[in-house]
Amino acid sequence: MDPTDPLTNHTPAGKIRTLIRGATGRCSVDGNLLVSARWTKLPDTCSRCGIKLERKEGQFVGAVGINTILSFGVMLIVMLAGIALTAPDIAVGRLVLATGAAALIAPLFLLPLSKTIWNAIDLLMIPLEPGEAPLLEHELAKKSA
Ligand SMILES: [Zn+2]
Repeated sequence: MDPTDPLTNHTPAGKIRTLIRGATGRCSVDGNLLVSARWTKLPDTCSRCGIKLERKEGQFVGAVGINTILSFGVMLIVMLAGIALTAPDIAVGRLVLATGAAALIAPLFLLPLSKTIWNAIDLLMIPLEPGEAPLLEHELAKKSA
C-alpha cells in the first residue's frame, strides 16, 4: 500500500454499508444508483467513480451464483405462501405452476441486483486497486491538492 496514493487514503464504506449499497442496486464504492427505472439497462461502469461492475474477467459467474440463490429464495417464498394459503387441501397443480412461473421470472428480474450485490461482495474480498475507479481517484487527487 502506497501512503501517498489517494485511493488507499480514501476511507471506504463499512462492510454492512457496502453490502446494503449492493443490495439496493447502488455502486459499492460511492453509493451511486445504478439500477434505475430502466431495469434492464444496467451500466457497465459507475458514472460517478468509474468502477466496472465486472471488475475482472469471469466475475459474471459470481453474479449468476447470487442470482441463483435469490431466485431459489423467491421460489421458496412462493411455494410456502401457496401452501399456507391453500392448507389443508394444498392445490398442488397451481402450486407447481406458480413456483414454475417464479422460477422463470425471478432470475430475469433479479439479475441487475445480483450484479450489484456480487460487486459489493467482490469489493469486500478484493479491495479497490489503483486505476479501478479512475473518476474517484481523480476526485480524491483534486481534494488532496
Ligand atoms: Zn461508483
